Amino acid sequence: MCGIVGYTGPRQAYPVVLKGLKRLEYRGYDSSGVALLHNGKLSVHKKKGKVADLEEEMIGKDLTAQIAIGHTRWATHGEPSDRNAHPHLSASGKLAMIHNGIIENYALIKQELSNKGYTFHSDTDTEVLLNFIEDIQQNNNCSLEEAIRIALKRVTGAYCILLVHQDNPDTIIAARKGSPLVIGIGKGEHFLASDASPFIEYTKEVVYVNDYELAIVKPDELILKNLGNEKVTPYIQQLDIELAAIEKGGYDHFMLKEIFEQPSTIYDCLRGRLDASAGTITMSGISEHIEQLKNAPRIMIIACGTSWHAGLVAEYMIEELCRIPVEVEYASEFRYRNPIVNKGDVIIAISQSGETADTIVALEKAKENGAFIFGVVNAVGSSIARISHAGAYTHAGPEIGVASTKAFTGQLAVLCMMALKIGMKKGTISEERYKKLLVELSDVPEKVASILKNADEIKTIAEKYKDANDFLFLGRGYNFPVALEGALKLKEISYIHAEGYPAAEMKHGPIALVDDTLPVVFIATKDSYHEKVVSNMQEIKARKGMIISIITDGDTVSPGLSNDYFSIPEADEIVAPILSVVPLQLLAYYVGILKGIDVDKPRNLAKSVTVE
Ligand code: GLU
Repeated sequence: MCGIVGYTGPRQAYPVVLKGLKRLEYRGYDSSGVALLHNGKLSVHKKKGKVADLEEEMIGKDLTAQIAIGHTRWATHGEPSDRNAHPHLSASGKLAMIHNGIIENYALIKQELSNKGYTFHSDTDTEVLLNFIEDIQQNNNCSLEEAIRIALKRVTGAYCILLVHQDNPDTIIAARKGSPLVIGIGKGEHFLASDASPFIEYTKEVVYVNDYELAIVKPDELILKNLGNEKVTPYIQQLDIELAAIEKGGYDHFMLKEIFEQPSTIYDCLRGRLDASAGTITMSGISEHIEQLKNAPRIMIIACGTSWHAGLVAEYMIEELCRIPVEVEYASEFRYRNPIVNKGDVIIAISQSGETADTIVALEKAKENGAFIFGVVNAVGSSIARISHAGAYTHAGPEIGVASTKAFTGQLAVLCMMALKIGMKKGTISEERYKKLLVELSDVPEKVASILKNADEIKTIAEKYKDANDFLFLGRGYNFPVALEGALKLKEISYIHAEGYPAAEMKHGPIALVDDTLPVVFIATKDSYHEKVVSNMQEIKARKGMIISIITDGDTVSPGLSNDYFSIPEADEIVAPILSVVPLQLLAYYVGILKGIDVDKPRNLAKSVTVE
């Protein structure tokens, strides 16, 4: 997926771009690199590994530059290596390019170029597109801008590209389709990046570039054009995000910061929407489309990873409160099978980044079939937010840690409000239950804060079990998706194999794994399934499994069955997942750091999966 940054203006360009790359590492960190342009001299520096490795490599080099473009990579074509790192240089050595995305027909173009005698120095699709552009420019004797336009009309796939040419000493040319690009407008300077975090301290005025647009960016001038060479008026927006929001704020890791931010992020998500004393939920995305939503013959939820787990919780919420049949699908499956989507069906798309490639394509497909798309997205202005007919932001702020935490609880809060509002309008929920749940939901931030006060108890549990080879996570009902999420978090950042399972279903297979070396985490909070879960705990105990339980304050039965337990405040089962997931996030975090893992950047993962 990659992060890209560019700068043109009076400052020294390299430090601006390097700092920007560090902020974009959540998008990938297989390698990084920069192209520097100074007095008509173009130089490219790149290095496998994190941005810090590049920074070290650059010590002692001449870093003077008026213009710089930089890239942090998450490899799609070619292994992570120095040679596959971006920027790539064209055959003439005069043109450098960085790219976020995938050129799907690169093999065909590569063949054409090879037939003409081109040789390639990397395995990337990016280098192919770059030489294709240069080849067009040379053959047609046209401007670089024109060559880019011609090339982009021929390529299929997704891209955000930034190019600098040795003979254009103050210009960056950029174009996008399917991968994000935002341009920051300063005084006599411009910044380009995958999101606004690299330049937030310099300017808050931004232009989000749209698909099929080309930007010609000089220090004093920004020209936007479409691929038909017509000028497009840039739509300048004002950002209201602070730099502190995207820095670690005193915590050792972004993940820990984000876990501890949850009382305020959930509060921010509810604020201005939920008013328990007035008994109202204000969500314009829902009110404006309430007929569509409440009369939906069916709701399909499309998501990936952690967002898919939020979707499973939503299935339980919506079916219970709105009596609408719900299906939850992995976007990657939905997009390639032949799903039945009818006019009137409502699709809820859940994504932290709003850039998840599989989800975007799945939505486009459903939209073609007449479905109504509702986006539950964290990143404001992201692709999914723009594709959706309506939606609600989770307002969790930028999530940098690769393992999603605060975005998940934000998603649950939004989905719960959604279910309550639709259920109330539809008349499938009693006023009394509705009002009770509003109070329950508004109490969540405070309850999460009280859980976090006891984080050290989870650290002690993590110390005891950190060397286990496998973990089993079990839960029923609303806590079944939480078991899945607990297992996913542990896998992601501790590299310990973990499985989440419905507690009862465990008897149909996973129970064979149970012995006195297997930690089994039960999410055993007080709900309508509690007695059943207690029976499942007995079954594990009888087979000598080590039980770690997440229980409700005041539970006197579960502690006796557990080797270790962690107690959380009582809550209605519909909102309980927002609480019960928090100790599991902490467990994964502490196990990860005790094992010496870089939890913010676990191996092989990237924050937003913007490739299929
Ligand atoms: N396809 C390019 C590469 O492999 C860019 C990767 C991406 O943005 O995902 O280097």
